[in-house]
This record gives sequence, C-alpha cells and structure tokens, in this order.
Amino acid sequence: MLKEYEVIDVKKIKNDFPILNRKINGKQIVYLDNAATTQKPLQVIKAIENYYMNFNANVHRGVYTLAEEATMEYEESRKRVAKFINARSYEEIIFVRNSTEALNLIAYAWGRKNINENDRILITQMEHHSNIVPWQILVKEKKAKLDYIGLTEDGLLNQEDFYKIDKPLKVFSFTHVSNTLGTINPVSKLVKMAHETGALAIIDGAQSVPHMPINVKEIDCDFMVFSGHKMLGPMGIGVLYAKKEILEEMDPFLTGGEMIKEVDFYESTWNELPWKYEAGTPNVEGGIGLGEAIKYLENIGMDRIREHEKKLVKEALEILSEIKGLQIYGPREPEIKGGVIAFNVEGVHAHDVASILDQEAVEIRAGHHCAKLVMKKYNVPAMARASFYLYNDSEEIQRLKEAILLVKKIFNV
Ligand code: PLP
Repeated sequence: MLKEYEVIDVKKIKNDFPILNRKINGKQIVYLDNAATTQKPLQVIKAIENYYMNFNANVHRGVYTLAEEATMEYEESRKRVAKFINARSYEEIIFVRNSTEALNLIAYAWGRKNINENDRILITQMEHHSNIVPWQILVKEKKAKLDYIGLTEDGLLNQEDFYKIDKPLKVFSFTHVSNTLGTINPVSKLVKMAHETGALAIIDGAQSVPHMPINVKEIDCDFMVFSGHKMLGPMGIGVLYAKKEILEEMDPFLTGGEMIKEVDFYESTWNELPWKYEAGTPNVEGGIGLGEAIKYLENIGMDRIREHEKKLVKEALEILSEIKGLQIYGPREPEIKGGVIAFNVEGVHAHDVASILDQEAVEIRAGHHCAKLVMKKYNVPAMARASFYLYNDSEEIQRLKEAILLVKKIFNV
C-alpha cells in the first residue's frame, strides 16, 4: 500500500534491481549517477538472457525459426519505441548505438547534404559535447556558421539571444533537459521558433525521454535522439527518431549489408525505412533489452515517474540548501528541473567530494559532465552531480546530505 505522499512504490521497485542490494564499504549502496547511466531491472536482464538462451540468430536474413523469432522480437521493440514517444510509425525509429551516434548521423547524413557555405546552425551553451562537436566539424568543412544561445545565471536558456542572431537558420539543435543544470527547456516553444525561421528542430532527448512522457508528434520536432542505457535498457542501443519525409530525403550514413535493396557493379539502391540507416548486423540483444525496459517504464507510468522525481528534487533542494557553503547550480523550481542537481562544496574539488561520498557508498559523478561550456559559464573546472531515478527515495537524500556534511567535516570547511 502506498503512503499518501508516495507517487510510486519505490520499495517494490528496488526489489527488481539486484545491483541495489550491493554494499560498498559495508554500507547499502545509494546510486545517484542516473544521468550517466541507469541500473537494469531483472526483467531486462532476463529478456537478454532469454534471447541468447533460446532464440539467438542474426535478424532479417534467415527463414528458419530462430532467425524469425529474433527478427520478430527485435522489430516488436522498434514498434514499442515508436509508441512510447508517439511517432507516426516504426519507420521513423532508427536503432543506433547511443545519442552521440544519432547526433553524428544527423550532422553527417543530413548536414552534409543540406548545409552550404554561410548557412547558420544554432545550438546552446547547455549542450552535452555530443551536440556541439559534430556541428563544429560540419561548420568547418562547409564554411558555415555556428551560433549559440547563452545561459542566464540561474541556468535557463537566454531566449533573447535567439532574436539577436542573424537569420535565416538551417538548424536549431538543443537539449530537452540539461545533464548538469537539470533545466527543462520549453521544447514546443523552441521548435516553433526554429520552424518560424525555416530551420529544422533537433532535440537531444537523452535526459528527457527516460524521465517524462514524450510526444514527438505534439512537440513537432524534426529529429529526437536518446540512449537506451539511460532508461533501464542495456548499453550500446540508442534511438534516432526523425520525421519520415526527412529520412526519405536523406542519404544513408553507414553503408554495406542490410541497408541495400539492390547492389550492382557500380550502383546500389537503398532499403526501405528504417533499415536504410542500419548498416550491418544490429545490436539485437540491445533492441530486445530496450523494448523490455520500455515495458517496465510503461507499467509504472511515465507521468508518475516524472512526479516522483519532481518530489525528490524538491526535497533534495530544500535539504541541500540548508548546508552552508554549498553552491547549487541550475533552476530551483521543480517544475522546470529534471532529477539532476549539480553542486560544489566551497573549498573542496568535486572529485574529492565524490571520493568521500563513495566511502559512504553514495555514488555520484564529478567532473565536467561532457558540458565544458556550462563549466565555463560558472567559471568552475568541475561540479559534483547527484541524479535521481524511479528507484531513489527520501532516505537516500538524507544519506547524500550526511555524506556531504562529512566532506565538510573532513576538509574543515
Ligand atoms: N546528451 C545528453 C544531454 C547527455 O546527458 C548524454 C550523456 O550523458 C548524451 C547526450 C550522450 O549520451 P551517450 O553517451 O549515451 O551517447
């Protein structure tokens, strides 16, 4: 029976995650690095085991039972992903390795065909490096221009910058949720702004798709990318969503087996969507594992997961704000903050904070979080970051607080 303030049954959920039973230094683990990767429930682990134990075969090729079963499961997962984000059809779902590969695919395949000299690409200072570097390379190659939307002091996008930069734009690519500041950007509004200038809108959903209901049709973005490992799925499987008409117009990214229809001596033609963009043997276990992860998330409900994280963040912000000398970055309103809190303890390097927290079995990340432009904004080399998911609870926030107090005691700050 859930207590009144509980949105989801965390105790029950924890039972599905064997790794959360681990002890580190004799203490029960508190896993707070969910923005980097999430833990995997037994259901996902078993689905992968079942594939290898019972129907392992290469997909799309064989006409024998194992191959047909593997293909069916893999393609069922694709349909599940499509439904999960409300894509129009499975044809709009390309399986890739991760968000990074998806963004590279867009910059390479769409970018090289459509970006010309002096064209403008807009990104933001809040981006993960995977949504910066591919554009830098494209812009150099094509003699195009790269512009940025900056940040306000409290970690929001400075939307006024959008109106100051030269137009027209060809691309506006931005993150839905910042992996450092936790900021939830108003994506529907940003997409509209992009479209009004004639630009394509690309959303990095690595930190949003795992944590809240997503409806790509409603948001109307042209592309969205996300990673399976950040949403209870296995490593090495990610998703590129794109509107069908764009995928039809684009040329393939990687070429070779699987992605062709006909091959002759000097010419080849391309496979149907989505396989036109999936060259070579795919990550079948990854696709099947991701499908199972989505089943798990759907059973709990994405709106409830979002509510749960909102409560955790509100509570954590209140508790951590009481600690003297703790600098917290990003917005303070849970309505516009995902389950990510980046902070620094005054006078202590973030790596020392994370090491001491590890002795207390509180597992957080420290560093630049692949967001060096955010570090530049706040003029710090690194931040400590606690990030939550559906299996975290209030007790763990207390453990986080106590471990931070221990850091202060050890460093006498
Ligand atoms: N974008 C954001 C906002 C992220 O947080 C991450 C990973 O942390 C990525 C992209 C890259 O994800 P991956 O390493 O799975 O490609």
